Amino acid sequence: MHAIGIDIGGTKIAGAVVDELGGIVRSDRVPTPADPRLLEDAVVAMIEGLRGGDEIGAVGVAAAGFVDAAQSTLYYAPNIDWRNEPLRAKLEARVGGTVVVDNDANAAGWAEFRFGAGRLVSDMVMLTIGTGVGGAIVAGDRLFRGGFGAGAELGHLRVVPDGLACGCGQRGCIEQYGSGRALLRMAGEIADAGGIGQALARARAERGELDGAIVGGLIEAGDPGAVAALRQLGHWLGAAAASLSAVLDPQRFVFGGGVAIAGELLLEPIREAYLEHLPARGYHPEPDFVVAELQNDAGVVGAADLARVWVAEHA
Ligand SMILES: [Zn+2]
Repeated sequence: MHAIGIDIGGTKIAGAVVDELGGIVRSDRVPTPADPRLLEDAVVAMIEGLRGGDEIGAVGVAAAGFVDAAQSTLYYAPNIDWRNEPLRAKLEARVGGTVVVDNDANAAGWAEFRFGAGRLVSDMVMLTIGTGVGGAIVAGDRLFRGGFGAGAELGHLRVVPDGLACGCGQRGCIEQYGSGRALLRMAGEIADAGGIGQALARARAERGELDGAIVGGLIEAGDPGAVAALRQLGHWLGAAAASLSAVLDPQRFVFGGGVAIAGELLLEPIREAYLEHLPARGYHPEPDFVVAELQNDAGVVGAADLARVWVAEHA
């Protein structure tokens, strides 16, 4: 049975018809309209266009924000003017069939679990390192959503008591120490300090400010200042992973998002910090740490598969 997955991002809506093995049959992509009514119209048009004449089992829609445990209502979306939006009911009324709604990080994590880096384990934690830090938990072969649907917000796991202020209103969240934005801050601090930060300081002076492409390029070139910033990031992510292990005991941690392209350069400090912070070290079986495999398609593939799972469990 084919299913449609739609991933509503801050700048674009991506959609695809996805087969049972996670393969993309056909896909589409449009800019995200700012007006919520036009956004709903764009999602409907994309579903109808992708469906064509085919029989489609279900539609899964993923968006950033809190989704209720019934996979129906988007309580809150940070990038869209939707509050307590009954998205599932609205879309089902317009396109027919079954539509389920999920958090975008959950959809991406589920895709990795089913078809990517997590497919050989039963318990997995994924951290997506983009501008912020997204999270997904699979426990006992099932996606963990929490009692209200707002669980697995791993970016707001606190790693530094009274640490840096976070957009969520708290302080010291891993999002402030392990995100792409944090990497740029750390690179800026290393540039300010001179020494190994000279190349970063030069690039900043030439380009006005440091961005992901500049720091990523310097990491790839082996610049010691940029690599040191990445190692600081990895340190905090490893410390967070140790706390997560104490609660969830996953066999595998998967790191996705743009920063994870650094691969081993990121994973090595993560492993080191993990062991340093692990409670009862030496008595705890060690999980492995890998990078995500599905990259940009994970959101649509996971959304489609979660819709398929919903239909299978409610048939
Ligand atoms: Zn936070």
